[in-house]
Amino acid sequence: NQTLGELDPEVSAAVDAELARQRDTLEMIASENFAPQAVIEAQGTVLTNKYAEGYPGRRYYGGCEHVDVVEQLAIDRAKALFGAEHANVQPHSGAQANTAVYFALLKPGDTILGLDLAHGGHLTHGMKINYSGKILNAVAYHVRDEDGTVDYDEIEALAEEHRPKMIVAGWSAYPRQLDFARFRKIADSVGALLMVDMAHFAGLVAAGLHPNPVPHADVVTTTTHKTLGGPRGGMILAKAEYGKKINSAVFPGMQGGPLEHVIAAKAVSLRVAAGEEFADRQRRTVSGAKLLAERLTRPDTAEAGVKVLTGGTDVHLVLVDLVGSELNGKEAEDRLHSVGITVNRNAVPNDPRPPMVTSGLRIGTPALATRGFGDEDFAEVADVIAEALKPEFDAAALRGRVQALTAKYPLYPNL
Ligand code: PLP
Repeated sequence: NQTLGELDPEVSAAVDAELARQRDTLEMIASENFAPQAVIEAQGTVLTNKYAEGYPGRRYYGGCEHVDVVEQLAIDRAKALFGAEHANVQPHSGAQANTAVYFALLKPGDTILGLDLAHGGHLTHGMKINYSGKILNAVAYHVRDEDGTVDYDEIEALAEEHRPKMIVAGWSAYPRQLDFARFRKIADSVGALLMVDMAHFAGLVAAGLHPNPVPHADVVTTTTHKTLGGPRGGMILAKAEYGKKINSAVFPGMQGGPLEHVIAAKAVSLRVAAGEEFADRQRRTVSGAKLLAERLTRPDTAEAGVKVLTGGTDVHLVLVDLVGSELNGKEAEDRLHSVGITVNRNAVPNDPRPPMVTSGLRIGTPALATRGFGDEDFAEVADVIAEALKPEFDAAALRGRVQALTAKYPLYPNL
């Protein structure tokens, strides 16, 4: 019955230090968020002890009556929130959700058409050394040189040429909404399935701020920890006709026992995501990203060679383009880290610098919006970032401004 601190002071100290880091810095990694305390609490329950291979009502283990309730709640809430016919809440991560879909609906060697990793796609959309690129024949589409937006004409031409079994829409680094009706039309024109990976923008969809891919796609995958703000994990939504194949691909195809403590946390976060407070948070998220894009493209910042891909954003992130700046992505990331802002460097399309250096930054607003930030705060954050990207900057002064913001919105006050 020892506490973590008593039993393992080393792990406990590292967890405490991480809490302090999250409290004292501005978290702007676009794929991160702060899960509500209730979500963290659900993950730390005795549900972690339970084996529950199978699905609610059809388990391979006894004693599943309570985890059945939890998993059914998560399934029902996911279906209701996104208007889906079928939901599988068991994937341990977003990558596993995608892999399970490929496993369910494709055969090795089949062709998929996904967004190039270097243009904002995800590893699991066909990168060469990822499972998706090794087992499947992956063809990539791109964004247009002129304006950085997805090139639907190219997708159409590639689909006609390669006749893919599946088209994958979705991204990890792209600041605009996708046209799901157009994707559906292209998929139908060559008899392909359409999978949408909404991992990044699922929270915006839940809040009605982004088109919902569910009516257009055969299958929609997501993570639960990005804009959706829940526990680290994955989820699959599908048309009813694919439900059986997808369930069997997740278990026993790819995974053993589900993580019922994480599924409990998914259920809690889906309840939260159906509420008005969540919608308000997503509105502040998008509005903050728009402010960031506007203020990072003012003349004084532009003079330092800073641009914003596509000229702005419709979502929760901004992609900063440093091709024309003396500062590279790695230096910019380090510089922001030195003033207390956490972001990640990110290659821009046709990046002239190597992948470990890059010429871009991906900056996201979900975590700060969860913390309570509104327009006024995001304007201040944007100005701190803009100052930090100029050739001359006062690190101590910027650190002070970051500290004022973190002090204004205490994080996890009860932890
Ligand atoms: N899909 C997209 C679009 C993502 O951006 C990510 C993660 O960054 C994933 C899938 C994978 O999620 P996970 O890290 O949970 O495997």
